[in-house]
Amino acid sequence: MGDLSNTFTFKPILIRASKDSHCTRDILVSPFMTLFQLHKFILIVFDLNESSIEYHNFNLLNQLESIETFYEIIDHQEIDGFITPVAPGVYIEHTHPHEPLPLFSIYQPLHDDIIQMSFRMLRDERYCKLETIPSQEIAYEFQHNSQHYSIHLNLQPVNLPIQFLEEIDLHPKIIHKTGHFFETNTTFPIHHKLMHYYLPLSRNCKTTDENQVKHAFRTGIEKLVDERRRFLLEQKDCHWVEPTGEKCVYCALSM
Ligand SMILES: [Zn+2]
Repeated sequence: MGDLSNTFTFKPILIRASKDSHCTRDILVSPFMTLFQLHKFILIVFDLNESSIEYHNFNLLNQLESIETFYEIIDHQEIDGFITPVAPGVYIEHTHPHEPLPLFSIYQPLHDDIIQMSFRMLRDERYCKLETIPSQEIAYEFQHNSQHYSIHLNLQPVNLPIQFLEEIDLHPKIIHKTGHFFETNTTFPIHHKLMHYYLPLSRNCKTTDENQVKHAFRTGIEKLVDERRRFLLEQKDCHWVEPTGEKCVYCALSM
């Protein structure tokens, strides 16, 4: 942390986290924070007990991309359907190119050239830094003791005096808070252990990473669409190998 020259190179992000108009938190965080780290921090600032959280994910509001992107911890064991990894922490969720009659949910209006296939981008929140997220409005959704909740997050890059920057370099900072998450006001102590998730913050993130991710994603889709075309036109011997290394699940069935 001794290299001061880097301190000038980033704008911290001010996050307004709102459960509703009465319960809000304004927090300052580093743009290099990952969504996974943000998840941990939201629980802390709203005094929520992590062990009561059964599920969570981030959804971008006002997405600019035509293909829906889903941010969560990607656990291969828990994913239904087919996924193809295209970059670290980035996956295409898709209909199988050899599926005779795809019945997958359609996530976007399909163009003619990708007929009968659907795609969604899955991103592992542990790889995704705030500065690369293509939306300033995010919904953080979670289940707490079997109840579903949503917290609206608004992200704004801000200019701050250098001294302030050095402070948020180490720990995200709560600027303002109103209300309690639960009206009964059940609070839990902040565990300092959790703070360790924010250290060390990477200073090597390049904005080109995001372009590479998009490029890899498009290339991956092209390959799948191409495979689908070949399958529909030729239907000869299947040479498809699943990302797991196994034989094609569809053609192996019909043999
Ligand atoms: Zn096949």
